[in-house]
Amino acid sequence: MSTLTTPPPSSPSSLSAGLRCRCPRCGQGRLFRGFLTLAERCEVCGLDFSFADPADGPAFFVTTGVSILIIGLWAWTAVVFDPPIWLQFAAVFPALIGGCLAVLRPVKAWLVAEQYVHKAGEGHWDDLGRHGVGGFTPDRRSADVVNLPPAQWPDQIRRP
Ligand SMILES: [Zn+2]
Repeated sequence: MSTLTTPPPSSPSSLSAGLRCRCPRCGQGRLFRGFLTLAERCEVCGLDFSFADPADGPAFFVTTGVSILIIGLWAWTAVVFDPPIWLQFAAVFPALIGGCLAVLRPVKAWLVAEQYVHKAGEGHWDDLGRHGVGGFTPDRRSADVVNLPPAQWPDQIRRP
């Protein structure tokens, strides 16, 4: 029972956990329960994977990287060897699809591990206040100041 709640003495690197599609905390439990569906929690250390939300980041990076690689290779091959067009179609499209499918899972696992290591999450405001109130600096959270042009702000708020 204690193995489910006690973190291991050393965690794997995010790259190692990602490439092996394993839990970012213990490096042993499986991260996925389907091809790209994350498990609810680690079966070994009990880490709750609800923090993980890489969104479309893995798809973007994978399609961009694989496309640059495959299209570059195809362009070089087409110029140097001038293969028939049917062979180009027969080779390039499966290479694009297969390449993306091959690296999508480890890249998603790696991004989840990076989220875990850096405790990354969705950004949020502490207090939005009313419309026109609040803002990017705590000094401007007064409606009296915000509604004035900066030249008329009190001296204690004005910045150099
Ligand atoms: Zn784990």
